[in-house]
Order: sequence, then C-alpha cells, then structure tokens
Amino acid sequence: MLRTVELFLAMFLGWLLTQWTHSNATLGLLGCLLGAALWMTWDMAARAVLVRWIQRRDDSKPPKMRGLWRDLGERIYKSLRYQRRKTLDERRRLNEFLAAIQASPNGVVLLDSEGRMDWCNQSASEHLGLDPNEDLHQVVRNIVRDPVFTQYLQKGRYETEVKLHSRGPAASEIAVQLFPYGRQRHLMLTRDITAIQRAERMRRDFVANVSHEIKTPLTVIRGVVETLQDLPLDAEQRDHYLSSMAKQAQRMDNLVTDLLTLSSLEGGPPPPASEWHAAQVLIETALNDAKALNGVLHGGTQTLEVMGETQFDVAGSGREMQSALGNLVTNAVRYTPPNGRITLGWRRLPHGEAEFYVQDTGVGIAPQHLSRLSERFYRIDQSRSRETGGTGLGLAIVKHIAQRHGGDLRISSVLGKGSRFSVTFPARRVRWLDDQREA
Ligand code: ADP
Repeated sequence: MLRTVELFLAMFLGWLLTQWTHSNATLGLLGCLLGAALWMTWDMAARAVLVRWIQRRDDSKPPKMRGLWRDLGERIYKSLRYQRRKTLDERRRLNEFLAAIQASPNGVVLLDSEGRMDWCNQSASEHLGLDPNEDLHQVVRNIVRDPVFTQYLQKGRYETEVKLHSRGPAASEIAVQLFPYGRQRHLMLTRDITAIQRAERMRRDFVANVSHEIKTPLTVIRGVVETLQDLPLDAEQRDHYLSSMAKQAQRMDNLVTDLLTLSSLEGGPPPPASEWHAAQVLIETALNDAKALNGVLHGGTQTLEVMGETQFDVAGSGREMQSALGNLVTNAVRYTPPNGRITLGWRRLPHGEAEFYVQDTGVGIAPQHLSRLSERFYRIDQSRSRETGGTGLGLAIVKHIAQRHGGDLRISSVLGKGSRFSVTFPARRVRWLDDQREA
C-alpha cells in the first residue's frame, strides 16, 4: 500500500515538474513516466543492497534503508539471528551429548544400514582396537576381525551379547551387543567384562577349594567310621582311630570358623574409629595364644619374647585386631621348629603409625611365594599347614582386617632363616599416651 502511494507520489511529482512552466498533457504524461522510472530505479537499487547483504551471510546488521526494504531487512535479520542461536544451541547440546557418550566407560558404535561405522566413542575404540578416523565408514565385519563376532553378525540374533578378546593393548575380555534402531541402523555397545570374569573365576575357584577342603577330612572320617564298624579292634586301636577322627572334625571346625570370619569381614560394618584398645592387652592375648600352641606343638621349647612399645591405644574392632595378631603369632609358632625363637612387639613408625610385628627363626619363605601368601587357600607346604591345624585362610583374614583398619600386611622372609610378618595401623587409629602426657 505504502509502495503504491510512493509510486503515485513520484509520478505526481514528475507531472508537477513538467506542468510548472507549460500546461501540456503530453509533457505531463512524460513527467509521470519519468517519476515512475526514477522510483523504480531507486527501489531496485535498495533491493540489490538488501540482496547483497543477505548473500554476505555474516552477523552484520541490515543496511540502512527505508520502507518495505527496511522492514524486510529487519525481519530477515531477526529470523537469521533466531536460526543462528538455535543452531548454536543445538550444536552445543549435541557436543555435550557426544562428550557424555565419550566419557562413558562403555563403548558405543553407530552403524549405518550397510553395517558401516558412522561414529564410535573412545571406549569402543579401545575395546575393539578401532581407529575412530581411519576406520570411519568401514564395514564393521572387516574392522572387527574375530570369527566369534563374524558368526554373531551372520546369525543376526542380537538378543544376547557375545564375548570377545580385546584387540586393544591390554588383554581384556569384552562383551558386545547390537541393538537395532531407526531405519535398519544398529547401535553396537561394548563393555569391559575382565573384572567380572575374574571375579566369577575367583568365585568358582573358591567354591571348588572349600569343597575340596571339606571333602578331604570327610573322606577320612568316613573311612574311620567304616573301619570302626567292620573291624574287631582293641582299645588302643580304637583310641587311635577316634583321635584321628577328632583331628579331622577339628580341621573342619577350623575351616568353617575361618570361612565365617571371612564372610563377616566382607559384609560387616567398618571397624569403629573411637573404640580404643590398649596395645599392652592386645599383645598379651596374642602372647598367650602363642604360648598355648607352643606347648601343644613343640612341648613349650620355643622361646617367646616381647619387645617394643606398649604405651598407646589402637582404635578399631578388638575382636578383629585380636584375630589378626593371633593369626600371625600362631603361624610363627607353627612354621618354626622346636627350640626356635619368636619375637613379637609393637613399633612406632615415622608418621605416627603403629606396627605389630612377629619375627621368627622358622622355615622361611622363598621370594616367589611372598606376593601370593595372602590369597585364600595359598599354601607353600600343604602337609605342614594341615598337620598344624591350618586352613590356608589365616593370612587372607589378617590382610582383610589390616585393610579394613586402613593399614596393611607386610611380609619379609629369608628361606631357611625365618620370617617377619607385620600389620600396620594408620596414625588416625593410634593414640600415643606419651604424646598426651607431654601435651
Ligand atoms: P595356613 O593355615 O596354611 O597357615 P595362612 O594363610 O596362615 O594359612 O598362611 C599361608 C601360608 O603362608 C602357609 O601355608 C605357610 O606356607 C606360609 N606361612 C605363613 N606364616 C608363615 C611363617 N611364619 N613362616 C613360614 N611360612 C609361613
């Protein structure tokens, strides 16, 4: 409407200019046409300026114009700004989304309808040994060259996952599963299951070990019962068989007790941080355990001596600490021959930690065994362990207890000369009484 008014105004001005001097109709018409032509030229120039601005595709404001072209320019500017903001926003969201998938410990691979890799995150590239750039748009069957995976793809039954050995630098086990989505596309998820598989293997080994440990004494007991039933035995022979039965029953009892201790340690609440136990009492109880066992196993011929400091308290579970200390001293008695020497004591470490140690002059341990001693059922000398009432769980229990208290189990030994076992307790669990008196 405004433009029509402008056009007529231009034509009128053209006509008026020609009528100023002579009033002539032909000249008037020419004036009108000239006015219209001038207006159109100005209009086309304005349009060209606007088009040039649009073609620049930058963030600049629209050129200064009048009328329709100004309105049009402003509208285009607003709409472009809105679109740009929206695009930036969407790009930011997409980047955040991709960063989240990148951060995932699980691998994600996007496959197109032909089974070609469209995108993969860092975890997937580590799990499957893929190169996110070089392998892009490659058929997944060709880049994950594993017969098990090829078979999985051929079958096309993706309800379950398939387990592969990692092609990455670390030897790990990977579970892979495909999920269809969109138009014949697939999402491939990968998961590192090495730890789960290891835990599963450990669980199986543990069950097998426990079963074996129980079966052995049971077999002996069954044999003894049959002998007692079938053979006419004199009193002395009967006593012999009955005492062997009692020994096996004791062995099973020890095993069950240790298993219960382990399970209560695993599922139990953390040891209290403000229940204080005198170091003196803890060591005395351990010493009494050692003395009793020395009497039973070696006729009391071993020398047991206590050294070090006792003027402090330790915070934690009294029962657990007693069990850890007791295990270490009784092991020293069991693995040291008669007439040997066993020294036990507490020691203050440089940063205020406390260490309970047991030093013996026993059989000692070859270096290759040291790192494995605290594994469940790991024994160097099976028969010696069993003869002396061992379950193979003692050091596993000690290590567990030490770690629950924030400490550690330390072992050093020289084969044929003797061993030193110790448990440490962190400074926060130790209350040095001397320090308190000084303060
Ligand atoms: P066990 O019930 O067999 O003693 P432990 O877990 O207490 O089980 O100990 C594991 C193994 O560590 C033992 O079988 C033994 O071979 C070795 N061991 C433990 N303490 C000593 C020690 N003081 N001297 C030598 N060997 C030891």
